[in-house]
Amino acid sequence: MSSYFDIAEYQSRLDRAAARCRELEIDALLITPGPDLRYLVGYHAHASERLTCLVVSANGPNRLIIPTLERGTALASPLSELDIELIPWEETENPYQLAASVLTTARRVAVDDRMWAIKAYYLREHMPKAHQVPAGPVMNELRMVKSAAEIIELQAAGAAIDRVHEQVPQFLKVGRTEREIASRIAEAIAVEHEQADFVIVAAGPNSASPHHLPSNRRLQDGDVVVIDIGGTTATGYCSDSTRTYSMGEPSADFASEYAELLSAQLRATASVKPGVSCESVDAIARNALTAADLGDFFLHRIGHGIGLETHEEPYMVAGNPHKLVEGNAFSIEPGFYREGVAGARIEDIVVCGPDGPILCNDRPRELLIVEGDS
Ligand code: ZN
Ligand code: ZN
Ligand code: ZN
Repeated sequence: MSSYFDIAEYQSRLDRAAARCRELEIDALLITPGPDLRYLVGYHAHASERLTCLVVSANGPNRLIIPTLERGTALASPLSELDIELIPWEETENPYQLAASVLTTARRVAVDDRMWAIKAYYLREHMPKAHQVPAGPVMNELRMVKSAAEIIELQAAGAAIDRVHEQVPQFLKVGRTEREIASRIAEAIAVEHEQADFVIVAAGPNSASPHHLPSNRRLQDGDVVVIDIGGTTATGYCSDSTRTYSMGEPSADFASEYAELLSAQLRATASVKPGVSCESVDAIARNALTAADLGDFFLHRIGHGIGLETHEEPYMVAGNPHKLVEGNAFSIEPGFYREGVAGARIEDIVVCGPDGPILCNDRPRELLIVEGDS
């Protein structure tokens, strides 16, 4: 079950994409199944070897090249109400020739960043005069500024993952493996969202590996457990939230380092407002952790944009001078990782509001102590 925005929202996205193409002297956007297609026309198409391709022409019209057998699913989406001409193709036809036949004068075409390489290859083979460029500069500009309706969806996704974190303490039992815990969490994510996307359960020394894959290690008393989880809602918006748990009282050293992490996370979050650069949000947390002698253990950027994909623009990293504007949405997730010992991370999704951060997550950020009553 997918749900959709108003048609006016999709129409405005299509119009803005075409306008941006004119600015960048791109004749057409070629968009295959993936987040860009869903963003522009609401069609959550299944990616397959058959070519489905939305052709957004800089000066109109818009067309959708689509296998005849997929027409029904396409027309069940908002695109049926948009001004898009359908070009169905039969199993024995060559869809790349069809694409070339509607783009005979195109000299610069932008292919979506998630297009399968083989499709970009065949498109190039059939349109040798059309120079291919990535569609990212068109699409990312649009997608990284969330509309009011999208912010509501991100908040709903955040509330959904908060409800999962609320249940996490009951899944954490000494003696259970990380994998057993992960499968219970995945079920809870799927209940609260349309689908579960990922589950990181990193316990004990594994918590020092930021993207640890759940293993057969059993939870022990005294373990620190980093739980980083996310899912996708029916409208396609992603959640992503990390909380750190402790099986029983943590060591005094770990507790004081965690307090530094929490203060760095809160300071970085509080700094969010229009005009502040992505890299400065990272620097605020990094400088705070460095002052607490934890800088060397903060192994990754502070965050990433989020929306129809878990990781998208803007990336919150040193070297990204992008100045935040209202509607940018991203994670703030500093951590520290002492190899062989333990690690911790705190992650929230934040939207840049008109004069400060809008938080999408609301669970306590303190180290969550789970009493070992197994
Ligand atoms: Zn990550
Ligand atoms: Zn995460
Ligand atoms: Zn994240």
